[in-house]
Amino acid sequence: MTRLVTDYLDNSAKDFPNKTAFADEKRGITFSELQKEAKKIAQVLIDRSVFKSPVVVYLEKSVEVISCFMGAAYSGNFYTPIDVTMPESRVSKIMETLSPALIITDGEHKEAASAFAGNTPVLLYEEIQKGTFDDKAISAALNRVIDTDVLYVLFTSGSTGTPKGVIINQKAVIDYAEWVTNTFNISSETIFGEQAPFYFDNSILDIYQTLKNGATCYIIPQKFFMLPKNLFGYLTEKKVNTIFWVPSALCIMANLKAVDKFIVPTLQKILFCGEVMPNKQLNVWRKSYPNALYANLYGPTEITDVCAYYIVDREFADDESLPIGFPCKNTDILVLDDENKLVPTTTANVKGELCVRGTCNSLGYYNNPEKTQAAFVQNPLNTVYNEIIYRTGDVVHYNEHGEIMYDCRKDFQIKHMGHRIELGEIETAISAVEGVEQNCCLYDTEKSKIVMFYTGSIEPQAVVDAIKNAVPDYMIPNKKVKLDKMPINLNGKIDRVELKKML
Ligand code: AMP
Repeated sequence: MTRLVTDYLDNSAKDFPNKTAFADEKRGITFSELQKEAKKIAQVLIDRSVFKSPVVVYLEKSVEVISCFMGAAYSGNFYTPIDVTMPESRVSKIMETLSPALIITDGEHKEAASAFAGNTPVLLYEEIQKGTFDDKAISAALNRVIDTDVLYVLFTSGSTGTPKGVIINQKAVIDYAEWVTNTFNISSETIFGEQAPFYFDNSILDIYQTLKNGATCYIIPQKFFMLPKNLFGYLTEKKVNTIFWVPSALCIMANLKAVDKFIVPTLQKILFCGEVMPNKQLNVWRKSYPNALYANLYGPTEITDVCAYYIVDREFADDESLPIGFPCKNTDILVLDDENKLVPTTTANVKGELCVRGTCNSLGYYNNPEKTQAAFVQNPLNTVYNEIIYRTGDVVHYNEHGEIMYDCRKDFQIKHMGHRIELGEIETAISAVEGVEQNCCLYDTEKSKIVMFYTGSIEPQAVVDAIKNAVPDYMIPNKKVKLDKMPINLNGKIDRVELKKML
């Protein structure tokens, strides 16, 4: 039985030493090379007596990032990837929350890393690779690791302006990886065309399926998602047979009319997760790949990527919603109404909040007991022993087939081009701008636009320019509305209903 994720790499390095494990635009890395590079990283951490500690990986999306992740794991530590395009002030907030033991970067990003590192040591990947490793020291470190130890902390948007670090342990990833392999028949024949950024939890599927099964994962250059001909040419050249993309990426290709124009002959499995997948665009894909397997996967970062899934097994009209289906194996989904009672599974259309019980659950938010206690709560249906469930904040119902259907969010979290964003985080950044009095951000779902309403003396573009240092590009409002007066409701709060009418 697999105990730690490093067992996956050890097995694949033994079974498929010279096979390409991961490849990016610059290089491919075999399983045995990956194992060696990862162990050199582990050795540096062991030599510094770093154990059970956070390691920040500050690199472009590349095969080296995977070596760093595994290096952290081989030494009994855990990793946090930080996007190299993230604004410095946001990185600083993550650094403050995490207090990492060290940062791994490369020569190209050394200066940027040093700018936010403070007293945290910054190590260069290429320098580490000049060293060696001692298998005995690595085995000794791994012997001290248990499967409930942390594997990674991924940061998601936080409504107060500070990103939340979702803590996931080894066991949760192994549980998930076993389920994915069995459900979708992933094997050494699988060739992934990888889309998700490594700071986004969708990437967990491609990374760990590759490591576990001796598959091959091609990290698709981000720019190709704007160049359909190149994207489909790349997938064809690499003989990709499995993709797990965010619906926005699938939709862009359908909207650009690229799906039926550039057929990838090897493509067999089309999985997606992270936001609503509209049937209109899915039907475009289904027409071009009628024999492919399609699956709608659902889940937040807090439950290790996926807790429900629906394998598309019937026709859907363009305006119908796609189910999120049924709980994954070894995962329990409780749909709770406002009184914390289970909604009936046999009566269609009764709405409730989707809550999750299982090995998949996160250990909470790093260094943030308040947010942890709010979302990870005692199962209200269990009054006899401690049992934590995660409240997703997603409103769902059962349909007449007993499938779970996604409705909406309970709060102000949105998905914009696949990115999870708390509108509160943008509002906090805008509030800090000199000259802004009040502000409120809404999401125009129809037009996929973040809309900023504000009052104050400053001009709209200047507000946007001012927050560029605080939030990532994908959080920058797409529409700016300056108001003379903010509408206020009877409770004295900003009237979002009134603002919605102005969208
Ligand atoms: P993230 O933590 O970035 O994976 O975002 C999780 C949130 O994305 C969930 O709480 C849902 O609101 C949304 N989400 C994820 N998968 C789906 C899906 N298949 N359909 C609809 N919404 C989804």
